[in-house]
Amino acid sequence: MDYCSFCGFMISNFEKAAAMSGTFVDFSRKVTGDMNVVFCSECWLNVMEIESGGMRTAVAKRRACESNDREDQKERDRDRPDA
Ligand SMILES: [Zn+2]
Repeated sequence: MDYCSFCGFMISNFEKAAAMSGTFVDFSRKVTGDMNVVFCSECWLNVMEIESGGMRTAVAKRRACESNDREDQKERDRDRPDA
């Protein structure tokens, strides 16, 4: 038995979709270490979809999010009673 390192769901050995091991850097805590991670099939599929989109998709997602944030702010500004 093991658990998915992404969603935390317990999985049996035959349910493991992927595993990785190597070093990591935690930039916020300023520490490094070794880690073994395991993915269930659903989380691994998500990882593969994200990886297939690459940087182009990542940039598009970031722009869409920032655009939504600006639109939300405009809406909040319009709804203010003193505006
Ligand atoms: Zn998972």
